[in-house]
Formats: sequence, structure tokens, C-alpha cells
Amino acid sequence: MKVPFLDLKVQYESIKHEINFAIQKVCENCAFAGGPYVAEFEKAFAEFCGTKYAVGVGNGTDALWAALIALGIGGDDEVITSPNTFMATAEAITFCGAKPVFVDVDEQTYNIDPNLIESAVTPRTKAIIPVHLYGQPADMDAIMEIAARHNLYVIEDACQAHGAEYKGRRAGSMGIAGCFSFYPGKNLGAYGEAGAVVTNNAELAGKIRMFRDHGQQKKYYHSMVGWNARMDGIQGAILSVKLKHLNEWNQARRRNAKLYNELLANVDEITTPLEKDYAAHIYHIYAVRTRNRDALISALAAEDIHCGIHYPIPIHLQEAYRFLGYKQGSFPVAEKCAAEQVSLPMFPELTAGQIRRVCGGIKNYMAVTV
Ligand SMILES: *Cc1c(COP(=O)(O)O)cnc(C)c1O
Repeated sequence: MKVPFLDLKVQYESIKHEINFAIQKVCENCAFAGGPYVAEFEKAFAEFCGTKYAVGVGNGTDALWAALIALGIGGDDEVITSPNTFMATAEAITFCGAKPVFVDVDEQTYNIDPNLIESAVTPRTKAIIPVHLYGQPADMDAIMEIAARHNLYVIEDACQAHGAEYKGRRAGSMGIAGCFSFYPGKNLGAYGEAGAVVTNNAELAGKIRMFRDHGQQKKYYHSMVGWNARMDGIQGAILSVKLKHLNEWNQARRRNAKLYNELLANVDEITTPLEKDYAAHIYHIYAVRTRNRDALISALAAEDIHCGIHYPIPIHLQEAYRFLGYKQGSFPVAEKCAAEQVSLPMFPELTAGQIRRVCGGIKNYMAVTV
């Protein structure tokens, strides 16, 4: 029995009729770029996040970039974020003209360590982008407090945290803006590319709306230099269908994580993820840590069990960011994560039998090597 890292097909099969009907409606109304199906999704997604506004854009990278641009960040500004994230977080900072400044992460949550933020703040710092990595929110109270003290914006990278909660508040709703990706493999995934920014700030929402549509206030009247970062109508319609299932899918992921935690509890060589008391973790990724990570992945692959690594090289050590001048040892916790983490198969439809097989494979491997 194969255990894939992710299986999008089994979910599609379960909602096929709703999805196909939604796509057909968009085609019949020819509402392909932006339009009513995007607006309908925006309304529902804002409500889901507990914010006043949601603005649909082309993808999660667009969402981060548009939020930074709309807040006027660029030039010589600096933006603080964590180095163990997907490249897009840093790229958005670079492409608004600002400089990414990294801060190491907490060893238990893998999220930015609030105790280390203040020493990275300079007179040029304009914003902090906490990444809610793997679906567990960063320690937002501590981060918001530091931001208030230094007059910084907080933009949440909630691209892995659709529906995650921090002290009962939804990810994306706590900073000035929350940025989401609906890349197909995310907890709420489109059938193509899509993203959104959520906010309670009317002016910011208005600016991002304008920015995503060439800075137009009305057709062919451009009040700012913008971009084409619109969401597809078909993606809007598909996301509206899938949003209705998201709570149930997130609950299934949480159940799967619980079973993994139980089955791996007595495996000394494996560190399972820790859910903080303040958090509702939605396990976009279920990552464990172990010393001989690469050998474990190969051994499992030989048994047709497929894992991932998120992420093998932290951003500060990527060739693309060599010019920032960081080196090996700059962020020891992030580097340790990159060396030791394995992402086990995780999706809502993963069965208990499959989870048992993964854990059995891990135990067999440990028995012969340790
Ligand atoms: C997926 C992701 C992004 C980028 O989203 P895209 O839709 O792929 O552009 C940004 N940040 C994080 C943490 C992500 O996981």
C-alpha cells in the first residue's frame, strides 16, 4: 500500500459534483477574471478569518508583495522575518525594494522567536512578517507588543495557516494584514493559482484592490502604478465550494496529527511537533525531527512511503541571498531544523491504516539502525 505525501485526487473525488457545477457556472457567465465569483469568495473568506475585508489576488506571493507595497514599504526599509520559510516571504520583501532581515526561530514551534526580534530592529525597520509555519501561529501577543513599541507594521504570512487560531483568533486577523496562498497543496487549495490579503483596514483593502488591477479606480483611469494580480473567476468559485469544507478538513488533519503523536511517542529518536496551549494548529505540514533525516527518508521511500522536507536550505543560506552576507551559523535553530526535519504524509483523507504504516516504517528503520 503506497502512502503518498499528498493526495489531491481523493479530495477532488469527494467533492467532484459541487466543483464541476461551480466551474460550469463561471463558464456560462463568462466571469473569468475577477468578477462576482471572486467577490463572493472574498466575502466568505473575510468572514471565515474574522476580518472586515478580503482581497483576492493571483497567489500568495502576490498577497505578500501587494500588502508591502500598499503599506508604502520599499526603498531603504528593512523588514524582519524568519529564515526557515518558503522563499516567497523573502522575495516579496526584496521585490518591494526593501531588505529582508532574518531573526532565528523558537526551537519548539519553529516560528520567529519574539525574544530575538528587538535586537534586529534598526531605525530603518518598517515591518515584521511572522510566518505561521506548518499551520501553527507564531506568538502574536509578544510580536504585536514589540511592533507597537517600535511603531512597526505586522503582516502575517498565513500561507500555511488557513483556519489556525491564536488564543481563539484566526490566523491573518491579528496584524494590519494577513496573507494567504491557495496553491493547490495548501489546506485551502485552488485548482490553479490564487491568494488573498485579509485586513480590517478599509484604506489598505482599497489600495490592494486598486494595485491588483493596474491601479485603476475605474476602467482606464489609473490613480497609481499597479500590477495585474487578479484572481481567476474559476478559482474564486472553486474556493467558495472548498471553504465550506475547510473546518472539517482541518479537524481531520488534527486527528491525523494526534494519531501520529501517539504512535511516535515512544520512539526516542523522533521529536514530534508541539502544539502550544495558545494555538489551534492546522497541520499544513506534520514535520518531525530526527538525526539521520536523509537515510530515514530513503528507507521509507523504499517501502513506498513518501515524505518531504520543508525546507532543506534556510533562506539566509540560499545562493540567491548570498548578497545579504549571512553565513552558516547565523541562525543555529533554523539551520538545525533544515538539517533534521522530515515532513510525514499529511492530508485530511489520510487513513489511520496509512498512518500506522508510516509509523511502522519509522520504527522498523530505527530498530535496524539504532
Ligand atoms: C505557499 C507559501 C507562500 C507563497 O504562496 P504562492 O501561492 O505559492 O505564491 C508564501 N509563504 C509561505 C510560508 C508559503 O507556504
